Amino acid sequence: MSSLPRRVGIVFAVVAATVCLAAVPAEAAPETSVRQGAQAEALEQAIAVQEQLRERQQTLLALNRRADARDRALLGRKAVLATYGYHGDPERVRAVLPLASYRLSAGYGLTGPLWEAEHGGQDFSASSGEPIVAIAAGTVTEVAYAGPYGLRTIVTLPDGTEVWYCHQAETSVYAGQVVDVAEQIGTVGSTGNSTGPHLHLEVRPGAGGPTDPLAWLSAEGITP
Ligand SMILES: [Zn+2]
Repeated sequence: MSSLPRRVGIVFAVVAATVCLAAVPAEAAPETSVRQGAQAEALEQAIAVQEQLRERQQTLLALNRRADARDRALLGRKAVLATYGYHGDPERVRAVLPLASYRLSAGYGLTGPLWEAEHGGQDFSASSGEPIVAIAAGTVTEVAYAGPYGLRTIVTLPDGTEVWYCHQAETSVYAGQVVDVAEQIGTVGSTGNSTGPHLHLEVRPGAGGPTDPLAWLSAEGITP
């Protein structure tokens, strides 16, 4: 970078030299040809400097274009995350809602004829086939039909918390797969013990008993 002013200086010197050269008559004295040799060399140098400057400019343009593409990608990501209830910096997202379009139905802890014990999760009524996304990043530890839970995907978070996604119509992940927050894992269905298409979401800290998924989401700053 520090050599740039010197290079620009060379360019100016050569431009000036070229002007002088044009003023020299064809039948000039022998010492003129020595000067012409030096001038030709300086001209070559100037062309090389210009080539370097042009390359540097193109590198800068390419960098700018890449930055634009990254900005656009981030804007796209921000819009997607907003549909899942997250409105902060896309690069800091930790949790999202599992669905973009839903209606909260049976809540956590309910008792009634539909459940053998307390309702261990939160139900989200949604259209069959609605994409389900991971509420947090983790590793898929199970994808299987699990009796009353129907087609269930379990994602284990880095802290050992299990997130269960139940009654799915289809799954789009496999055991062992690492999933990012807001990445699609399957679709809403009504498999297992279910009276209509919905997602039954369970959050089980330390792979133990369930906790209220809405409270867990709320602690992560996500409100349905
Ligand atoms: Zn349920």
